[in-house]
Amino acid sequence: MLRNKKYVYSEHDIKVPISLNLGEFVLNSILQYKDRVAFIDAHTQEKLTFSEIAQNAMNVAVSLVQQGVRKGETIAVCSENRSEFWPTVIGTLLAGAVITPISVVYTKDELKHILAISKPKYIFCSPFAYKAHKSTIQTTKHIRKVYLYGDEKTSNEILYKDLVKNVNVKREDFMPVEVQGQTDDAVILYSSGTTGLPKGVVLTHFNGLVYCSFIKFDEPQDPMTVLSIAPWYHAYGMWGNIGSMCNGRTNVYIKRFEEKLFLETIQRYKISVLFLVPPILVLLSKSQILKNYDVTSVTQMNCGAAPLDVETIDEVKRRFPNVEGVMQGYGMTESTLALCKDNLFQPYKAGSVGTATPSTVLKVVDLKTREPLGPNQPGEICAKGALIMKGYIGRPRSEDFDDEGFYRSGDIGYYDEDGYFFIVDRLKELIKYKGFQVPPAEIEAELLKHPAIRDAGVIGVPDRASGELPLAFVVTQPGAAVTEREIQSYVAEKLSNPKQLRGGVRFVKEIPKNPSGKILRRILRDMLKSGNSKL
Ligand code: AMP
Repeated sequence: MLRNKKYVYSEHDIKVPISLNLGEFVLNSILQYKDRVAFIDAHTQEKLTFSEIAQNAMNVAVSLVQQGVRKGETIAVCSENRSEFWPTVIGTLLAGAVITPISVVYTKDELKHILAISKPKYIFCSPFAYKAHKSTIQTTKHIRKVYLYGDEKTSNEILYKDLVKNVNVKREDFMPVEVQGQTDDAVILYSSGTTGLPKGVVLTHFNGLVYCSFIKFDEPQDPMTVLSIAPWYHAYGMWGNIGSMCNGRTNVYIKRFEEKLFLETIQRYKISVLFLVPPILVLLSKSQILKNYDVTSVTQMNCGAAPLDVETIDEVKRRFPNVEGVMQGYGMTESTLALCKDNLFQPYKAGSVGTATPSTVLKVVDLKTREPLGPNQPGEICAKGALIMKGYIGRPRSEDFDDEGFYRSGDIGYYDEDGYFFIVDRLKELIKYKGFQVPPAEIEAELLKHPAIRDAGVIGVPDRASGELPLAFVVTQPGAAVTEREIQSYVAEKLSNPKQLRGGVRFVKEIPKNPSGKILRRILRDMLKSGNSKL
């Protein structure tokens, strides 16, 4: 067979053993780093070593199996970033079970939706998450046991600390549950994809192994100190941290971004690598207090999850004297993490999101003809390869993959003659607020439940500081009176923080739709630009 000249093939392929458990790969990697510090909580300075994570992960695995957990069963973890999280994730994988990290800021309805998709039988919770969601968790029939972080339980939950104390396994006596990497599920994350409500994204052991192997090969393995702000339940936090652990890096984490704490932490721990999202870079490019801190230790900045403009990159480079450029990555929950990435071994091109990651094939197709396009021609980016998810739970692959098996990203971009990719627009509905997913369909579904609202359509309004702000077009019921403020407060009660209608509400006579009832969001965007959105 001949290669397609219009496809972009990664330069390298990664090969991983078929029966290797992702948890075992991570365990073996981190055991090499022994008592080196793996994580530091920037708020409390609490430290966790690689040996502690490895030991607790094995203990969690053995205890879970003793408690009846079977291969392929799903275990949820709903917690802010804290020390018990990684032994839970690695331990679950070692037990052959599937881990599903859940956002700690979900509202009751959002949590119910997610639990109904992945149907976990067990759940690990931080006290904070459990306080918010105890009644939902206790009334979810498929959840058999609740494991609680911290020291206190309220009824028949099991404390995580007892779970890890229950056994004390040595590596030489321990055997992870065997899996078939290419087919066995490892991780379920959530994403709305190109349309509709959040769906369960199934990633296999193989997806994770390929990612971890390429990170080992792609980035220098030295004891660098990294600072990250992404929540660990999101793909960026999840895989970014697993990658850092496999490379033996010390990861300082911040649970809630605060400018002063962020800068103090860089100075205190002489951070060399930052993992960021565009809104934080925008903030750093304007910070009034940055000049009071020594940030010369920072030599590498990574950014992903949303578009980043070149002016911000230039300003940040000026303020961080030892940073050559902001290394970008582009990908999605459905592609494990990155489909394209800058790396240290290739020349840097500002504004680009780098070249294809190992074991990935990319094509850019014409939006109408679906034919592959050559260099410098924008179209939809489609991806195939070892990092692409197995599929969404309960949804046929044909909905999201083309006839050749390429996943349709819903993003518009192009590649240049050197195979560097540039993202120019988003075809899919998704709104990104500070890097967080905001599926418009989710807000529309809530708005339609309001008695005064007959129809609704939601779009994102560009915003330099946050990326995009969700804005609703609303058609009211005849004779009903409802204000913008009332609608914003209603959504604030129903949906989590990123989904608030920060862009406002516009009252209109009708929501433009195509003959099959699909909302024409481009027209809504044009209406907003032209100011033609008043009743
Ligand atoms: P998520 O699954 O939450 O990571 O969201 C994935 C989506 O975020 C992608 O499909 C893009 O629309 C957007 N995205 C991620 N990385 C970038 C980037 N570097 N530049 C522009 N958009 C990005």
